[in-house]
Amino acid sequence: MAALVELRDVVKHFPVSRSLAEIVRGKHPAVRALAGVSFDVGAGDAVAVVGESGCGKTTLGRLMLKLAEPTAGTIAFDGTALATLAGDSLRGFRRQAQLVFQNPFEALNPRFTIYRAVAEPLLNAGVDRAEHMDRVVSAFRRVHLPDVGRYLDKYPHQLSGGQLQRVVLARALVLGPRFLVADEPVSMLDVSVRAGILALLREVRDAMGLSAVYISHDLALVRYLCERTLVMYLGRVVEDGPTEEIVRRPRHPYTRALVAAVPVPDADQSRAPLPIRGNVPDAREPPSGCAFRERCPHAMPRCAVETPALRSIGERHRMACHLE
Ligand code: SF4
Repeated sequence: MAALVELRDVVKHFPVSRSLAEIVRGKHPAVRALAGVSFDVGAGDAVAVVGESGCGKTTLGRLMLKLAEPTAGTIAFDGTALATLAGDSLRGFRRQAQLVFQNPFEALNPRFTIYRAVAEPLLNAGVDRAEHMDRVVSAFRRVHLPDVGRYLDKYPHQLSGGQLQRVVLARALVLGPRFLVADEPVSMLDVSVRAGILALLREVRDAMGLSAVYISHDLALVRYLCERTLVMYLGRVVEDGPTEEIVRRPRHPYTRALVAAVPVPDADQSRAPLPIRGNVPDAREPPSGCAFRERCPHAMPRCAVETPALRSIGERHRMACHLE
């Protein structure tokens, strides 16, 4: 099946302010958030992007929604490069690709009523005002807030976290998108309401046939929502494969460390957990060769000079590591 979203060699650098010494030496330091990322998201696929803070996963989500521009590489949606979109074609893309925010308490304007917040994307997209109420009611039903009259005149501070996240999702769905990016969609919620929101995300995706990318650090969460997982480390994909395989038999040393850090039920724990030492290196000056080598217990001389490429290690399973 043709991919809905295609990324090819996507690079993103963020310039940072220069020290006097760097100015004198003519250096232009930059945070290298993404260092050449390529993958596809098929129609109806649910793909997870996991990794520690600073691995580039949030930047990746923003680029896929054209909320930022890549420094190099291409991103295409339904066969059209995002870089070429403008005017009507950009508005058309914005209707089809939506973000579910991490923090529902910050996602909604506190001065807008719930109705205005959910209807705003319709207004921005030029949808006839006569259709707004029906569309808002339908979106509320979709997220299981059927008693719409109870919510429409309220303000965000009058709703609970779980109710607000449902409103945020209703806002993302009100235009009938084909593609969702959800950035840590339950991390700010009480544990007691997380399961309900996760079940809702899965139900909505199945019912609407949406393609979705879930950005998370939580492997247990992505196992519930996604058939496929990409593991990122310092701006690169280091493992990409079926989620069950990645959780049960992680292959890359970094993925093994992630799985060991958060034991997942049924995962193969027969291998000794990998101690993961230190922190993610400074993205302004990543190590040569494999970016994980300073923390990897298997590092060998080759790892310092040769950046491992993603290679196939099984059916629909790829890894970037020199280990056999
Ligand atoms: Fe470890 Fe080398 Fe593999 Fe990197 S390439 S993960 S340093 S063994």
